[in-house]
Amino acid sequence: MQLKVGSVQINNGFSGQFYLPYSIGTLYAYFLHFSKNPQKYKFKSPIYKRLLLDECVNDLKDCDIILFSTYVWNINISLEIAKKLKQIDKKKFIIFGGPSAPDISETFLRTNNFIDCICHQEGERTITNLLDYYPEDEWQKIPGISYVNSNNYYRNSNLPKMREISHLPSPYLTGIFDKLIKENPDEHWLASWETNRGCPFSCTFCDWGSATTSKISRMDMKKLEEELLWFARHKIEFIYVCDANFGILPRDYEIAKMALDIKKKYGYPHILSVQTTKNARERSYKIQKLLYDGGMHKSINLAMQSTDMTTLKEIKRDNISIDDYKELQRRFIADKIPTYTDLIIGLPGDTYEKFTRSVDDLIQSGQHYRIQYNNLSILPNAEMAREEYMKKNQIKTIEIPIVNMHGSLDETPADGIVERQNMVISTKDMPTEDWIKVRKYATLTEFLYFNKMLQLPIIILQKLKNNNFNFFFDLFNQVKDEKNFPVTTSLNKLFDSHALGITKGNPEFIYSKEVLKIYWPPGEFGMLYLYQKKLINKFYDEASFLLKKICSTNLERDIADNAIKLNYELLKKPFQNDNVIIDLEYDIPLFYERSLLGENYEIKKGKYSYLIDIKTDGQRDFFNWAQKVIWYGHRKADYFYKYKKLKSDTEKQFFQEK
Ligand code: SF4
Repeated sequence: MQLKVGSVQINNGFSGQFYLPYSIGTLYAYFLHFSKNPQKYKFKSPIYKRLLLDECVNDLKDCDIILFSTYVWNINISLEIAKKLKQIDKKKFIIFGGPSAPDISETFLRTNNFIDCICHQEGERTITNLLDYYPEDEWQKIPGISYVNSNNYYRNSNLPKMREISHLPSPYLTGIFDKLIKENPDEHWLASWETNRGCPFSCTFCDWGSATTSKISRMDMKKLEEELLWFARHKIEFIYVCDANFGILPRDYEIAKMALDIKKKYGYPHILSVQTTKNARERSYKIQKLLYDGGMHKSINLAMQSTDMTTLKEIKRDNISIDDYKELQRRFIADKIPTYTDLIIGLPGDTYEKFTRSVDDLIQSGQHYRIQYNNLSILPNAEMAREEYMKKNQIKTIEIPIVNMHGSLDETPADGIVERQNMVISTKDMPTEDWIKVRKYATLTEFLYFNKMLQLPIIILQKLKNNNFNFFFDLFNQVKDEKNFPVTTSLNKLFDSHALGITKGNPEFIYSKEVLKIYWPPGEFGMLYLYQKKLINKFYDEASFLLKKICSTNLERDIADNAIKLNYELLKKPFQNDNVIIDLEYDIPLFYERSLLGENYEIKKGKYSYLIDIKTDGQRDFFNWAQKVIWYGHRKADYFYKYKKLKSDTEKQFFQEK
């Protein structure tokens, strides 16, 4: 009789769409292809999304062997399922693997003694070995596993990494997911796609480089093409490319082109989401441009993490060229392709001063779309998680619940099992009080600059006064004056308390019961707060006072005045119906556009009128605006209305009468 194998690889849903469980799929496909006795087992469809604990247990209770593919976002529910299954029947054989199964595993195995064995690193060969041996328990013969037997802990050494992966069977092409798709006809699927494996870098916060090591192995091109056709046949819109550095291999351009050709011919896939390679400037540019022009990309991620060399050295990223990143950023800006740059908060080596310098540096070098601030959390298999590394850098963490940006409370299921992460809130270089300052500073720049509340006057005054950007952020950051600046003071308090709250165990994002019942990034929450409390005009009055106070000439003051007025009018706001015509004494929009492109332009005095096109994009109630403008516009900070210069009084009159 065939033994039954069940599996669990729970992924988050994105707007009701779910990933096909790729890791489990690769294990099934490899076993069925290479096992000595593939008929020995019957494989159940994997559990791929978060169900209630009892539903999962019920689904798996008749399985003899259960595989768990674990990540930070599913480890707690995976442990609870495994524990309950073992309580039902202690003969069930429970195997854990994936990035959240620790490499140094003794404590983990002893604490969770319902786990029979951990499969470390690449799983294909190890799981096939295990399943071939089972139920014999000659486990010492199986490389890459750890287990506790008769109270003794065993850790068998890992197999060398697979250098040749072109022969690996595809879970898509071998039909592994066919049954799953058939069983769930209403599901909209997303797919993970692996074109190569390995990463030549070894960033200390990441468990990818250490898990895959430097050599990059390639999947077969023909197989990749067939997989793309499979995605097209199954109408899969979104493909997440798992490669650590897409663009690192010359053939990656061909792969991108192949995806684009298939999209053109069959209409699918729509989006190819890739991690841009770090050190191949020209190729990376060409690939990203190709994907963007072909509509397979909405914005490009530049994972800088810090621009401070000592910090980059500390996290072993100093071999990744900052200049290459900046050059890429410059070229994308020139092409008007949106990018966003990642910075990590709380990296060893980083300080408040260095962090604020990184922010300034990035904006100065042209990042006006968005800096995406990520709080650092410790992954179990990252170098950073090692005791000696933590000790050396005096890293302190706090356990906080994992919530998704713009995710809802529904993500906290009725069984009460929540996933948690270990967030870094103190290092030897950034004690907790500085971490709070950094977190708050990041939020403030998000709110003022990237969410475009005051981007226009800040960029213009920065050019005129030749200050750094931090000068302007500090101007607002320092305000603690309830009498004269009540709104700015209350925003500062809000951002401060959000940062402090994280150090006490609160989530990274702010939940709003009133606005869409979702978790908002703090900078966006600040915007909602101003509109909800009807404080937006008062905020602009205060901002105008603060910015004009630092102007040293009447010319600067007039320009600041024009820029603030224009910024206010351009912001997409709720409950707007009619177009606006704004008269300016300086050609602020042109100056702004040139500044965004990093060009110099002498501002000219004159009579300028601009039409702000609200009709096309306005007419939203508050909740619709919060969702469609603030939430959906997040990545590109698409928060300004379109505008056009009116060339003559006649044209102005025409639009006024319209
Ligand atoms: S962060 Fe990226 S580049 Fe660094 S080790 Fe991880 S996968 Fe490689």
